[in-house]
Amino acid sequence: MFIGHFALGFGAKKAAPAVSLGTLLVACQFADLLWPMLVLAGVERVELLPGATVVTPLDFVSYPYSHSLLTLCVWGVLFGLGYMIVRRSKAVAAVTIALLVVSHWVLDFISHRPDMPLTPMNATKVGLELWASRPATMAVEIVMFTVGVALYLRTTTARNRIGSIGLWALLIFLSASYLGNMFGPIPPSAAAVVWSAQAMWVLIAWAYWVDAHRVAGGWERRTP
Ligand SMILES: [Zn+2]
Repeated sequence: MFIGHFALGFGAKKAAPAVSLGTLLVACQFADLLWPMLVLAGVERVELLPGATVVTPLDFVSYPYSHSLLTLCVWGVLFGLGYMIVRRSKAVAAVTIALLVVSHWVLDFISHRPDMPLTPMNATKVGLELWASRPATMAVEIVMFTVGVALYLRTTTARNRIGSIGLWALLIFLSASYLGNMFGPIPPSAAAVVWSAQAMWVLIAWAYWVDAHRVAGGWERRTP
């Protein structure tokens, strides 16, 4: 999944309007932000295997720390608690963040072939392989993304042009990257995929910037 994860990040703004969109996107994509770092560090492994699934040519050989259900629950609790302590936020914000971190596993479980670990300790791997069908994957993700973005748009209002044009530019960029992902050429190597996955940080920074120029539920003071 790609924009399906982002969909939950955008939509979660309704549940936790005081939390910046940037933080919500870090939470829903925490697994995919951690994963390239662990692959580069040699802790987790991915290989290029054209045809692995219809949608992705990647063989996720091992990713027990970034993508197991147990570790994502742990990361979710740590991230949620950390946020609550540092930002002195309400519990609902922390719970939303923790659930978003775990949601990554659920969505990947639906899309991946059975390569999703339950815990780093046991060998059981699961996956429903929505990725066996490109039309089904796109239908699910596009509906999710539309609903998520609609919730974000209804929850927030632009304060200026950065808040409006910047947001639309982000949405267009995300959609174009998604189509490139779906219909673009097979990447040259797994290493190229892992390095390009770091580009997600640009999207996160972009989301923080745009969100700071929008208000949620009136003009009260907000925590980033
Ligand atoms: Zn993932």
